[in-house]
Amino acid sequence: MTQPDVSTPTDFIRDIIDDHLKTNKHGGRVATRFPPEPNGYLHIGHAKSICLNFGIAAQYKGTCNLRMDDTDPAGESLEYVESIINDVHWLGFDWDERLFYASDYFENLYQFAVELIRIGKAYVCSLSADEIREYRGTLTVPGRESPYRNRSVEENLDLFARMRAGEFKDGAHVLRAKIDMSSPNVVMRDPVIYRIKQAPHYRTGNKWVIYPMYDFAHCLSDSIERITHSICTLEFENNRPLYDWIVNQLIEHDRPNQIEFARLNLSYTILSKRKLIELVENRHVTGWDDPRMPTVAGMRRRGYMPESIRTFCAKIGVAKNENLVDISLLEHCVRDDLNEQAPRAMGVLRPLRVVINNYPEGQTEEFECANHPQNPDMGTRKVLFSKILYIEQDDFDENPPKKYKRLGPGREVRLRNAYVIKFEGVVKDEKTGEIVELHCTYDPETRNAPPSDGRKVEGVIHWVSAHHAVPVEVRLYDRLFQVADPATIGDDLIKYLNPGSLETLTSCHVEPCLKDAAPGNRYQFERLGYFCVDIRDSLPGKLVFNRVVALRDSWGKIAGQENKK
Ligand code: ATP
Ligand code: MG
Repeated sequence: MTQPDVSTPTDFIRDIIDDHLKTNKHGGRVATRFPPEPNGYLHIGHAKSICLNFGIAAQYKGTCNLRMDDTDPAGESLEYVESIINDVHWLGFDWDERLFYASDYFENLYQFAVELIRIGKAYVCSLSADEIREYRGTLTVPGRESPYRNRSVEENLDLFARMRAGEFKDGAHVLRAKIDMSSPNVVMRDPVIYRIKQAPHYRTGNKWVIYPMYDFAHCLSDSIERITHSICTLEFENNRPLYDWIVNQLIEHDRPNQIEFARLNLSYTILSKRKLIELVENRHVTGWDDPRMPTVAGMRRRGYMPESIRTFCAKIGVAKNENLVDISLLEHCVRDDLNEQAPRAMGVLRPLRVVINNYPEGQTEEFECANHPQNPDMGTRKVLFSKILYIEQDDFDENPPKKYKRLGPGREVRLRNAYVIKFEGVVKDEKTGEIVELHCTYDPETRNAPPSDGRKVEGVIHWVSAHHAVPVEVRLYDRLFQVADPATIGDDLIKYLNPGSLETLTSCHVEPCLKDAAPGNRYQFERLGYFCVDIRDSLPGKLVFNRVVALRDSWGKIAGQENKK
């Protein structure tokens, strides 16, 4: 597979790599990795990391491994592994044969831990978790040494072997690195590197009852894979001295460098697997691939294209300070690509019946329409016209406001690709007063031509022929959350979900040429936005469309105005 070009001009990480190449620090090698824990589906934040790691590898002709960071049995599963593999591929990246599992290194990691004990740099500690926390101290209070800190190497080796053999219950002992209880960096105060956890692992089953902690497993997995640049998010900055300490004790040459960058935060959504799992498990969304989710699977199903996500990641760049990226930037990237690539069609979401009084009963006409206004290569299609049409309910107003460019009493509009029609009358439901039908006349002279007498037409509206149109379901999506930065809210998150995030419309109609539209196909419905045939719920004969994104960023504009007030 060819790697897509996602190189960005420059950023501080590429500067560091350039320096390393100049000084031949890693022998001229660039080896990165993307290390997800398979305990959830990937989200757009992971996409940023994927584009960065695979992008750097491609740019420097290096390699990027895909590594399942699966050292904690809780919550990890094969379903997640498969979804990760699928999503990274879909984003356009490939790792050749370099798919690795940290769980494959359990024996190596155990041997590294034994080595650390042998050189007097690790000990088995039998304090409880609470005691360990208490002994650790705080930012202002130095830590205290564990009473078990000076166990002999022999005793430590014996206890650690018995931990592995399953002789002890969870929490009875842990293995700790012997560093410095008075370090100003709390991370360095004899961190736990192995714990007992009597839990089956999705790959190693019951083979292990002790599992390495992230700080121990990650840097050594990097070393085993001969990673040169271990790129991670900012929350690991304080852990870098520990990363370096461990590899300095155990690894002879070409030690990897950890480099931190700011994670992506995106407005009106959350990028935390833990919180996303909650939405899925408590059924606030229909699943990981719900089109409202910020997951790669959700975005794929919604109809986003992988190149739009890559463009977005390139645009936001990589920096050291955290900020909140406006979700409308992502939508802008999606809209730009769809504008070029999506064929045009007409669909009516909330139909209003229109009878053309002077059009012959039973007659059908064909209009040859371009599939794309700027790209003749995308060909044409036939659009059918007949006596009874559907237009959008809000394209008619009995008392049109000023500047209303649509149909109303005494008005004429052009039906897109067809004729000019003139309003003649309205039929209302006797009981409710609701408008059920419009009556209009058409001007036969205006097929593909302006009115010959030069009279003015109010605007152009879309339509479908009632008899020929295909009934479909359309799902409209809005922000998942009502607040811009839900990540800062804490536990009450659910209260801030947007109750209007999904609107399902069941009486929509689209042009007959879409009858056999395949799942995943994307179209622009003129004046309405971009729509994608749902890959999960759409069936032959029962099409379901997701609105990918509206045409213009009307929401962004409104928010912009509000901000100015
Ligand atoms: P979450 O907070 O969603 O649970 P995580 O960091 O626990 O994410 P991992 O599976 O460990 O999830 O992440 C794999 C890689 O993706 C890590 O290198 C991590 O730094 C990176 N990553 C995760 N979230 C983001 C984000 N929002 N922006 C950029 N990179 C991210
Ligand atoms: Mg993590």
